[in-house]
Amino acid sequence: MNRKGILIIVSGFSGAGKGTIMKELTSRYEQYALSVSATTRAPRPGEEDGVAYFFRTKKEFEQMIEDGALIEYARYVDNYYGTPKAYVEEQLAAGHDVILEIEIQGARKIKEQYPDAVLLFVTTKDAMTLKERLEGRGTETPEVIAQRLARAVQESEGIEEYDYLVVNDVLEECVEQVHGIIDSEHQRIVRH
Ligand code: 5GP
Repeated sequence: MNRKGILIIVSGFSGAGKGTIMKELTSRYEQYALSVSATTRAPRPGEEDGVAYFFRTKKEFEQMIEDGALIEYARYVDNYYGTPKAYVEEQLAAGHDVILEIEIQGARKIKEQYPDAVLLFVTTKDAMTLKERLEGRGTETPEVIAQRLARAVQESEGIEEYDYLVVNDVLEECVEQVHGIIDSEHQRIVRH
């Protein structure tokens, strides 16, 4: 039986380790495909175009919007972020589980278009851990860290819109927990 791919949305506090969890999942299990978003933010050191993001100018991004090439897009701390449509559609059709790492506005728009999407919210044990992880990353200015923490508080207010809350304390356990959730979703008996 050819099983249908699931669309998985991962949101959560900036610095909660979403990227690491996603990377681990895709390297351990072939069933996952990671969607690469487009953004107007500048690359962080080591971030490659087409791998971390498709880094685009504001003009290029607005052209993608106009062309209908994005499933959704949102503004986050002064930059645009959006999900290219073609890759997601291709991967789902091929039976892969597609992971989107996007913030809450995008998650809502996706859920409207893909009602079967599974929404996960990743958090740290407490806000101090989050602050330490953001500062430890050393790639953001104190102003940007403050803005991201403020945004995190705002996002947590929409937490009840998510299907699962995942606490990233021990990475290994967290990765297997997410994989287990997706596995269960594949067993779900769909009633429409
Ligand atoms: P960062 O700058 O830390 O890479 O990402 C900032 C925020 O943008 C994160 O919350 C991330 O989940 C979100 N984000 C990344 N790609 C997309 C996207 O394609 N659409 C939306 N709506 N949010 C995104």
